[in-house]
Amino acid sequence: MLWKGRRQSANIEDRRGMTGRKAAVGGGLGAIALTIIILLLGGNPEEVMQNLQAPQAAGQEQTRALTDEEREVGDFVGVILADTEDVWHQILQQEGMQYREPKLVLFSQATDSACGFAQSATGPFYCSGDEKVYIDLEFFTQMQQRLGARGDFAWAYVIAHEVGHHVQNLLGVMQQANERMQGVSQQEANRVLVRLELQADFLAGVWAHHAQRLKGLMEEGDIEEGMNAASAVGDDRIMKQQQGYVVPDAFTHGTSAQRLRWFSKGLKSGDMRQGDTFAAAEL
Ligand SMILES: [Zn+2]
Repeated sequence: MLWKGRRQSANIEDRRGMTGRKAAVGGGLGAIALTIIILLLGGNPEEVMQNLQAPQAAGQEQTRALTDEEREVGDFVGVILADTEDVWHQILQQEGMQYREPKLVLFSQATDSACGFAQSATGPFYCSGDEKVYIDLEFFTQMQQRLGARGDFAWAYVIAHEVGHHVQNLLGVMQQANERMQGVSQQEANRVLVRLELQADFLAGVWAHHAQRLKGLMEEGDIEEGMNAASAVGDDRIMKQQQGYVVPDAFTHGTSAQRLRWFSKGLKSGDMRQGDTFAAAEL
């Protein structure tokens, strides 16, 4: 991707280099509410909830200097976040809405969020409670090593997916999905979550379409990287990697093929109105 020398977002909260935590986070959120708030890319929801609900003892706050490589990845994330701001300001303005920019927290190992305690194992997530995207850059390395999703556009796709959840929050879709999940079975709740996740993939595609139109940031091979990332982080692929088999009822992100399909749809059309995954007869 052609990203160097471009504007960086002022909404990055860099907590890397800080270890330890100030205080334990209380639980109190219901499992479903927590699942809906913590929208993950590529984590096992149950494992994540355990992580979020089991805060470790308070440790010493320590800081260390970032390496050159870490600083460069941080700059890249800043540029991509700025791109999402430019695109979503424009798109929502056309819809007569104002875009409220989210913050993006970079952390290493563990950090606090309004949605609970986050660890690297959590994977990237969006918390509607504080309107922040949380990313441990270790996940990018894992994507590369364990899921075979390589390249900077694959990372951009992850950021755009999480920002997509923020857009869903602003549009009220997240609230509606949360209501649909009240009092239904776990399987039914999962079906709602899959539609929410696929729509975030669609919105990541819409972002890529307009980012390309406005800034021409993509190079040859970038789309393939994004497609590869979309398919690499599908629930079926992750479950095969982690457990050696697939458990359809536990899917919360959709299969690789479904994620790829919705990302491509957003990428080709750039049209937000084509992304109603809740009304779609077929995913
Ligand atoms: Zn997600």
